[in-house]
Amino acid sequence: MARKFFVGGNWKCNGTAEEVKKIVNTLNEAQVPSQDVVEVVVSPPYVFLPLVKSTLRSDFHVAAQNCWVKKGGAFTGEVSAEMLVNLDIPWVILGHSERRALLNETNEFVGDKVAYALAQGLSVIACVGETLEQREAGSTMDVVAAQTKAIADRVSNWSKVVIAYEPVWAIGTGKVASPAQAQEVHDELRKWLAKNVSAEIAATTRIIYGGSVNGGNCKELGGQADVDGFLVGGASLKPEFIDIIKAAEVKKSA
Ligand code: PEP
Repeated sequence: MARKFFVGGNWKCNGTAEEVKKIVNTLNEAQVPSQDVVEVVVSPPYVFLPLVKSTLRSDFHVAAQNCWVKKGGAFTGEVSAEMLVNLDIPWVILGHSERRALLNETNEFVGDKVAYALAQGLSVIACVGETLEQREAGSTMDVVAAQTKAIADRVSNWSKVVIAYEPVWAIGTGKVASPAQAQEVHDELRKWLAKNVSAEIAATTRIIYGGSVNGGNCKELGGQADVDGFLVGGASLKPEFIDIIKAAEVKKSA
């Protein structure tokens, strides 16, 4: 079964209401490949989710950038998976490296969040990736496997999971992984899934790449056999996000 190309835009903690409306307008006017070819999901900050959800074209979807690890309640400042479901927000990004590093989210905590969000009916973009230090120490695959294992230990239904491989050294740095570096980890990760989950899950789960993807490098990266799309930060706020969505065409003609 072919894996549908997936392009996510992570807007992080950016934007005013006016800027958000401008981005949505640009997206709404864009000519992009059809939904059969590419699935597009944009992730504004929580406070803009209703605005984006109500104004964005219906063939694009929205994601929250995080949600709480369990049922809501006395957790000041948090947003629960149930609230996202209530607002009809279908996706959530979990385990982003900025949260792992700055907010000390552990592999286990991220695994618990993924399991809880899935149990509530959300689809999850689950992020994994090594730091530069870990890569230079030769432990990239050990790190990525441990992060993925913490998810696999808690999840049985993978149909609503997209894995985002995002090397930390490439996020927001302008230092993109080479197509060969990305392909190597995606291939290893798929083999890890085949061995530790199942051949079917390995063949059908989308593994997308994130880290300084832009309009110039997206086609070559997207042409790699095991790269099923992107999670885009900085460039998702700019019109070049449209070019990144169009990179899905490389798979169609492959
Ligand atoms: C991200 O934050 O997920 C990301 C990939 O950022 P950037 O594209 O800016 O490197």
